[in-house]
Amino acid sequence: MSQNDIEKLIELFKNPKKIVISSHYNPDGDAVGSAMALYHVLKQLNHQVSVIFPNKFPLFLSWIEESERSLIFEQDGASASQVISAADIIFCVDYNSFKRLGEMESLMVKSKAIKVLIDHHPDPEKEHFGFVYHSASASSTAELVYKFLKLTGLHSKINRQVAESLYAGIITDTGSLSFSCNNPDTYIIIAKLIQKGLDAERAHRLIYDDFSENRMRLLGYTIYQKMIVIPEYFTAIIALTIDELARFGYQQGDTEGIVNFPLSMKAINFSVMLVERTDRIRLSFRSKGSFPANIIAARYFEGGGHLNAAGGDSYLSMQETIKRLKEILPQYYDQLNFEIR
Ligand code: MN
Repeated sequence: MSQNDIEKLIELFKNPKKIVISSHYNPDGDAVGSAMALYHVLKQLNHQVSVIFPNKFPLFLSWIEESERSLIFEQDGASASQVISAADIIFCVDYNSFKRLGEMESLMVKSKAIKVLIDHHPDPEKEHFGFVYHSASASSTAELVYKFLKLTGLHSKINRQVAESLYAGIITDTGSLSFSCNNPDTYIIIAKLIQKGLDAERAHRLIYDDFSENRMRLLGYTIYQKMIVIPEYFTAIIALTIDELARFGYQQGDTEGIVNFPLSMKAINFSVMLVERTDRIRLSFRSKGSFPANIIAARYFEGGGHLNAAGGDSYLSMQETIKRLKEILPQYYDQLNFEIR
């Protein structure tokens, strides 16, 4: 972002404005954490601030203060539409294209508000935004929100609530500081957040130690019975059907993180999880090293994401989708064949 842009932004926030903070469909920890952090800052400056998500966020994030006040477009469409139409400024956090907004897309496209993008996904559609603060090498959007607050002189407003929200974003987007975090900035920011009142241990527990018994047993069942290991392509595949989810009393968020487990195996560099939905198969991809999960997602499954964490969809049956995946792997043998030393 240019110095000129920064000055314009500082000017913009001087007087009370109607501000909307939006994030992507299926909001994750980074989406909710980044949005709520901005909310807690802007509220202190007497702006009228609303947070809007296209659909519900998972329960393990509900401890983030005032997250229950956010509008869920799928449930409160009418009031969310009104707020978006009346907005002077719309923050777009943790997404690089309005296509990531589901049903909310057309409203956002139509809106005349000044749009401020803060994001770390590759290749943002910059032309749609008045201001773009972007870096694909940042651990998380939350990290960029912290830097954005610093650049615009708002970091003095970082209180405990802001610190907790930003920490939730950083910690969930880095798998508890295990990937996308080889940068001193990430750790320096967390240190600063602790100085601002964050109880990192408490927040970590609230995010990760929230399993129901059902969710724990689903995880065990999945790893024991459902994981297909393909050692010759350094890959593991997990597939879960709607019936299996029902057997374990599935709640939104219960499959969250399962896809990461196969990467704990020494010789597995690529992990794919397929979860059956009523109208599609949802795929999650995780990889180690330089194997591009996002390229597989984009090329074959109408998706995308980050180098090591991506998602996509398949409209084939479960069996056909698994077959397709297995057919793709041989072409990537050379890229999959490496050992972390
Ligand atoms: Mn993110």
